[in-house]
This record gives sequence, structure tokens and C-alpha cells, in this order.
Amino acid sequence: MKTTKIEWTEATWNPSIGCSKVTAGCKNCYAEVMARRLQAMGMPDYEYGFDFRILPERLNQPLNIKKPTKFFVNSMSDLFHEKMPFEFLDKVFETIQKTPQHHYQILTKRENILAKYFETREVPNNVWLGVTVEHSRTKHRIDVLRKIDTKIRFLSIEPLIDDVGTLDLKNIHWVIVGGESGNCARPMNKEWLVNVKTQCEEQKVAFFFKQWGTWGEDGVKRNKKLNGSKFLGREWKEEPQIFDNQYKLVI
Ligand code: SF4
Repeated sequence: MKTTKIEWTEATWNPSIGCSKVTAGCKNCYAEVMARRLQAMGMPDYEYGFDFRILPERLNQPLNIKKPTKFFVNSMSDLFHEKMPFEFLDKVFETIQKTPQHHYQILTKRENILAKYFETREVPNNVWLGVTVEHSRTKHRIDVLRKIDTKIRFLSIEPLIDDVGTLDLKNIHWVIVGGESGNCARPMNKEWLVNVKTQCEEQKVAFFFKQWGTWGEDGVKRNKKLNGSKFLGREWKEEPQIFDNQYKLVI
């Protein structure tokens, strides 16, 4: 069931909405732009714009979907936001546990809260945990993620706005890379992208290149659709694959 334009997932589930900026990758936050747009359209959930809110009425949404689906949890927020009560997170994970037919991809820029939450709780088998590493200054998030006992660990290197240098990808299963989009987008240098891809190959990690974004491979600013997602002559859309609830990397 594909109900989102986000290429690396199938659907989104937002039991909370709204957020606040933490690092450079947040500068042109897409969720904020969308939230302000929905507020202007008078959508009741977005009455307070981009302010963080939990939405208990959405907790059961995945229970009503029988078809196995890959959900990106919180495309409009950060599930591990400072204002998120752990009691509410427990309810989110209760829903996740009650729906083993689904997989849940959870991505955060708040690695310390993620680690604190799972200090005393187990990660359900159908959860993929990821952190954003948009800049060399945020690479420490990988070490925090690595220590959490979970089946799939992934990195979102998006928007790639810096040379991330050497990456230790031990026990990381998937890396997604993308350039920034929007009018104020910052360019992604092709060498930075090749550097990440090479290290994924060397360390046998699935590599998914989402898009160039507003700045193309040739360094020219244009519509992101025209810039596409090819480099070195092809697309790169590797993903960890699931067989009988065991994960296998397709490389
Ligand atoms: S953490 Fe994510 S949702 Fe929150 S402000 Fe940053 S980019 Fe936006």
C-alpha cells in the first residue's frame, strides 16, 4: 500500500505532529512548511501550526489496516521530541506490538532521548530504528544508535549538507542519502555522495539514493524532478529485505 511520496517507505503514521529545530538539517524543515500550510488551510489538527502535539485519536490507525505495510512513523514530527511523554510513547509501541504484520521505520535527531527510552524497554521486532546524520557534526548519533538492540538500524543522510568523512557502519544495515529540495536548498557536493556510497559498498550496507533535490549532479539549480536520482549512470535503491521476519541485506 503506497500512500506517501516518500520513496523509501509505503505509508506514514503521525501519532504526534509539530517539532522544534535541533541541528543544521532542520533549517528548511519540510514538516514545518507543511504544518504552516495546513494551518493556513484551517485544518483542525494544525490549529497551533508547528507546535508539538500528541494526537491520541490517531493511536489505533494501524490496527485498522490488515495489509502488511511499511510505515514511516512521524513524517511531521520527531517521535522522541523533548515534549513527548514516555507514557504516550508506550501506547505508540503497544500499537506497534499489536500489529506484527506491519513494519515501522522510526527516524530521530534526538538520539539521547531514543537511548533513554529503550534503556528500560525492548524494541519490538517489527521496528527499524534510524538517526539523521546530515553533517559531520552529527556523526556521534551513529554510536548511540549502534548500542540499541534492534533488528534494523538505519541512517538518513538527508539533506546531505557537508562532507561526513569516514563513517563507521558496523551494525548499520541501511543508509539513505538525499539532497535538499525547496527554494532555499543547500547544494550537495557529488564527492560527498560518492564518499558515502563507497563506504556503504566497502562495509556491505544497503545504499538508497533518494534524490539530488534542487541542485543537480551538474551543480545547477532546477526543478527536483528534472534532477532525478541517478548518478554514476543509474539509480541506487537498495533496501534491507525481510524473509520470514529475518532481515537480509540485498547488495
Ligand atoms: S527534527 Fe525533523 S521534524 Fe523536527 S524540526 Fe528537525 S527536521 Fe523538522
